[in-house]
Amino acid sequence: MSAVAPDAPTAPGALDALDAAAARAWLERFAALVAERAGELTDLDRPIGDSDHGVNLHRGTEAVRAALAGPGAGATTPGEVLAAAGRTLVSTVGGASGPLFGTALRRAGKALGDAPAADAAALAAALRAALEGVVGLGGASAGDATMVDALEPAVVELERAAARGAGAAAAARAAAGAAGAGAASTVPLVARKGRASYLGPRSAGHLDPGARSVELLVGALAEVLEGSA
Ligand code: ADP
Ligand code: MG
Repeated sequence: MSAVAPDAPTAPGALDALDAAAARAWLERFAALVAERAGELTDLDRPIGDSDHGVNLHRGTEAVRAALAGPGAGATTPGEVLAAAGRTLVSTVGGASGPLFGTALRRAGKALGDAPAADAAALAAALRAALEGVVGLGGASAGDATMVDALEPAVVELERAAARGAGAAAAARAAAGAAGAGAASTVPLVARKGRASYLGPRSAGHLDPGARSVELLVGALAEVLEGSA
C-alpha cells in the first residue's frame, strides 16, 4: 500500500473553487509556462517526432490569450472560459496537440455547464470529461506513451482528493504531482499512438512531449488555486 501524503490545509489566499477569473488565470499561467518552456517541449519532440510541439502549443496558447481578451472577454463562467479556449486551440494549432488539448478544454468546459464556480469534485468531473474527449479522439490508452499517461493519473488523483474532502487547491496540487509522475513514466515506454509510434521500439527512452505539457497544464491549475500564480 502506498503512503498518501496528507493534503495541505487550505492556505491563506488559496481558492476553494475555480470561478471564471481563476479559469482565465489558469489559462494565462499555462500560456506563460508554455512560452517559457517552448524550447524544451520542442526538444522533447525532436528525437521522437517532428520538433514542433513547443511551437504548436505556444501558437495555440498565445491565441487563447488573445481570444480571452477579445471574443471570449465576455465569458462569465469557468465553463465558458474553458470552452472558448478549447475552440481556439482546435482552430489555431495544426499538429495533433491542438485538437487533443482543444478537445480536452472544450469537454472540461462543457462538463462544468453554467456553474459560476467549480469545487474539487466538479474539477475532477471536468478533467474526467477532458480525458474521455482525448481518448475518444486519439484512441490512446494508458501506457501508449502519450499525454494520456499524464492526464489519466491526474484525473484519478483529483477524484481521490475530492472524495476525501480535500479543497480544490490541495486536490489540484495532488493531481499535478500525479501528472508529473505520469509524464516521467513515459520514458521507458514504446509509443503506440501519434508520430512517435512510427519509430516503433526506437521511441523508447524519451519523455513524451504532450505528457510534459499536461504536467504544465495541471501544475498551472494548482498554482492558480494555491494563489501562487
Ligand atoms: P504532432 O504529433 O502532430 O507533431 P505535436 O508535436 O504538437 O503534434 O504533439 C505531439 C503530442 O501529441 C505527443 O507527444 C502526444 O502526447 C500527443 N498525441 C499524439 N497523438 C496522440 C493520440 N492519438 N492520443 C493521445 N495523444 C496523442
Ligand atoms: Mg510534433
